[in-house]
Amino acid sequence: MRSALCSSILASALLPGVSALPLAHHDGDSCYVVVTTHYVTVDPVPTHTSSDETPYPLPTVIHSTSVPPDSETPYPIPTPDPDDTPYPLPTVTHSTETSIPPYPTDHPTDPTDVPTDESTSEPVPEPTPTPTPEPATCRPAWDNTGKAPSTGPLRAALIFVDFPDSPADQFGQSTEDLYAPLKSQPADLYSQMSYGKLEFEIVPLLDQFYRMPNDSVSYGFADDDGMTGEEHGRYINDALAAVGDSFSFQGIDVLFIASPNGTEEINRSASYSNAVTAPDGSEFTAGNVITYGNDLYPEGEWQTVNHETGHAMGLPDLYPYSPGGNALFVGGFDMMGLVWGQSPDLFAWHKWRLNWIEDGDVNCVAENGVTTHRLSPIEVAGGTKAIAIPVNATGYVMAEVRSKQGANSEACDEGTGVLLYTTDSALGSGDGPVRVIDTKPETSGCGSEDNGALLNDAPLTDVGGEPFDTELGVKIRIVGQEGDDYIVEVEREV
Ligand SMILES: [Zn+2]
Repeated sequence: MRSALCSSILASALLPGVSALPLAHHDGDSCYVVVTTHYVTVDPVPTHTSSDETPYPLPTVIHSTSVPPDSETPYPIPTPDPDDTPYPLPTVTHSTETSIPPYPTDHPTDPTDVPTDESTSEPVPEPTPTPTPEPATCRPAWDNTGKAPSTGPLRAALIFVDFPDSPADQFGQSTEDLYAPLKSQPADLYSQMSYGKLEFEIVPLLDQFYRMPNDSVSYGFADDDGMTGEEHGRYINDALAAVGDSFSFQGIDVLFIASPNGTEEINRSASYSNAVTAPDGSEFTAGNVITYGNDLYPEGEWQTVNHETGHAMGLPDLYPYSPGGNALFVGGFDMMGLVWGQSPDLFAWHKWRLNWIEDGDVNCVAENGVTTHRLSPIEVAGGTKAIAIPVNATGYVMAEVRSKQGANSEACDEGTGVLLYTTDSALGSGDGPVRVIDTKPETSGCGSEDNGALLNDAPLTDVGGEPFDTELGVKIRIVGQEGDDYIVEVEREV
C-alpha cells in the first residue's frame, strides 16, 4: 500500500510533459518519487522528439495499477510482416539433432588408408578441408551506432548547476556532498553487471556550481503543459556556456548535468534526444546528454545514473508508457524496468546487446526438437548465460537463471530460478520489448505492488516437474540443478 504522503507526492509528480514517468515508493515515513526518462531507442514515441515545438511525451495515464485488457493474453508477439521485419531470422545451419556433422565421405578416417610417399609414386591428394560448422546464432541486428560505448572505458562528465531563483547555498550542500554517492557506486554496479567489461567513470567538475543565466522555473521541467525539446536544449546549452571553454570534453562520452538536491523546479531526469556541441567543440550524440533532477538524490537512488546511462548505451525502457503500472511487463527484474527492483541486474537479452555476453554464451535453439542446456546464474561470469529460442521473425523466448548473487543479492527467494521471458526486437521503449513470463500466475509474488510483486516470483523452480508451456511453441522443464547451475530441457515446436 502506498502511504497517503506517498500518494500525495506521487500525485504532485503527475505533471504532464517531459519524457518521463514518475515512479514512487515509500519506506517508512519517507516517500520517494523517481522519474525515469524515456529515451526511445527503437520505436520513438512521437512526442519524444527533436522538434523544438513539440512537447515531450504526455502519457495519458501515468501510473495505474490496472492491467489493460490487451495485456490479459499471455504476452502476444506480433505476427511479423515478412516484408517489414527488420531482423529476419538468420539462416540456421545448426541442427539440434546432430550438432556435430559427419565427416565428409572422402575424408580419410583411417591413417592406413592414406597413401604415403613411401608406398606410391602417385601424388598425395590434398584432403578436402573439413568444413567448420557455423554455430547457430540468434543475435538480432542491433544497431549501436552513435551509442555510448558499452565495453571498455565509458567516461561521463558531471556538471553541477544552480539558479538565480534557487542558489545552491540555500541548500547547504557542496558539490562534493552531491557527488559522494555517485563516486563509486554506479561504476561498481556496472563493473559487476558487465563482468568487468564496462569501465564506467564519472569525471566531476567539483570546483563550483555553475550558475545558470535563468531561473530554474524558466526551463519548463515542471510546466503543466510539459517541457519542450527547445527548453531542454536551452537548459543544456546554458549549462555548457556557464562552464565555457575552461574544461575540455575531449574523451568524454556522456554529459551529465545535475542540479542541487531540493531544486523543486528541476523535478525529473531526462535524456536529450538531439546532438549537442560543447564550447570546446566536443560533440555528444543524441541521447548522450542526461540532465538529472531531484530523483537522483533520495537515498539509494544513485542507480538512476545506471538506468539513464543504460539509455545512452542503447537500452530501452521496459516499463509501459501506457496504463498498466510500471511493473507490468517485467516486475522487479532489470533496472531498465524498475530502477529499484528486487532483481535489478540486466536481462541476458540486454547484456547480449551490450556485448557483456557474447554469442558463444547464448545457446540458440532455432530448430524444433528437444535440447538440453546448462545455465549458470546471470549475476556471475562464465558458463552459458541464456537460451534464446526464436519463435517468429522478431520474437524470442528467452531463459536465464536468476540467483541472489552480485547485483541481485537483495532478491527475494521467490525471485530466483529459471526466469523465462519474451523479447521482441521490433518493439522499443515503453511498448514492452521484454515481457517476463509468470510461471506462477496464481500466486501473489513477493514485495510490494509498486515493486512488481506479482511478477517477482515468475521464475520456474520445480526441478523434475512438468514442462512449462509458454504457449508460444516452447516448453521448458528443469531437469536438474548442480550447484548454482540449472539443467534445462527445451522442447521447441514452432
Ligand atoms: Zn528510462
